[in-house]
Amino acid sequence: MSIIHFHLISLSVIVPLFNERESLPELVGQLYAALGENEMRTLFPAPFGFEIILVDDGSTDDSCALIGSMIAERPELRLISFQRNFGKTAALSAGFMAATGDYVCTIDADLQDDPFAIKEMIKKVQEGYDLVSGWKQQRKDPLSKTIPSKLFNTVTRLFTGITIHDFNCGLKVYRKEVTRRLELHGDMHRYIPVLAKWMGFRIAELPVSHRARKFGTTKYGSSRFFSGLFDFLSVLFITRYLRRPMHFFGMAGLISFFSGFIISLYITLDKILLNKPVSNRPILFLGILLLILGVQLFSTGLLGEMLSTSSSRGSSFAVRETLNLTAGQAKKFGAAD
Ligand code: UDP
Ligand code: MG
Repeated sequence: MSIIHFHLISLSVIVPLFNERESLPELVGQLYAALGENEMRTLFPAPFGFEIILVDDGSTDDSCALIGSMIAERPELRLISFQRNFGKTAALSAGFMAATGDYVCTIDADLQDDPFAIKEMIKKVQEGYDLVSGWKQQRKDPLSKTIPSKLFNTVTRLFTGITIHDFNCGLKVYRKEVTRRLELHGDMHRYIPVLAKWMGFRIAELPVSHRARKFGTTKYGSSRFFSGLFDFLSVLFITRYLRRPMHFFGMAGLISFFSGFIISLYITLDKILLNKPVSNRPILFLGILLLILGVQLFSTGLLGEMLSTSSSRGSSFAVRETLNLTAGQAKKFGAAD
């Protein structure tokens, strides 16, 4: 393999992309310009080396072929290409898995994020944070995106007590320890700061400039509302109850079972003491329902406990091809370079 692979990698840039062909040449050009800046290099004690891991999330335009041709001149580029569209979260976790740098940066492929902000974000990390998240303070998107996003951020802030403004900014810089630990599922990339904070990492936010989309269209329609809601619930569940599902299901189960028990006892006593008939009493059904529900909730909690103690979770994507990965990286993806 080429000698470049033996250089130490200080920074891994991860770019999730889904049908962003038109943006790619400009994006790569801007990234090389931003990462080539002298000021950028002074941030690292050792000689600065970087890699750009492009994760093609099942694009159906010829993004993949285009990247293949770019790699010929740019040895720092790497490609991981998915079998089909698995979503941005899966693309990011594949990137995290491959990243070899001490610092990891994620950036959207659509040119909406400014690569020249990376330098400032690394500086901020070096001030003593584990994750610095961009804040699209002046967001250049249509109202149909900015309004739901305000709502999303407010609700997440309220529920999690994390005081950042923009949870779902594509531009983030991490220490590698954070990306190693993150386990992402569903569409959870929106909640990365919540998960990181929950694991005890220090989080900061930095305003970054944002641009309107130049090519292509947004990949997120209105379906995002529902998947966002469900992922929000699972993040709440994960951060509070993942390691102790019994506290969630067990409590609900107990309450239900106990209420059902009281109701049934009441009907039984009525029958024994006052000889009231048991049939013809609608509340009987409620009692039975609550008893059964209680047992079910309780057993769900037990199953959850068993799963959470014995689970080793697999990855949530399938890789079609890879290009220019190091031997170590290729091994993880079960593919020879
Ligand atoms: N993306 C992806 N897989 C998807 C959807 C999006 O890799 O299924 C990428 C997309 O190519 C872009 C980034 O995620 O680089 C952000 O997507 P988009 O710009 O559509 O989101 P928006 O900025 O509109 O929230
Ligand atoms: Mg975008």
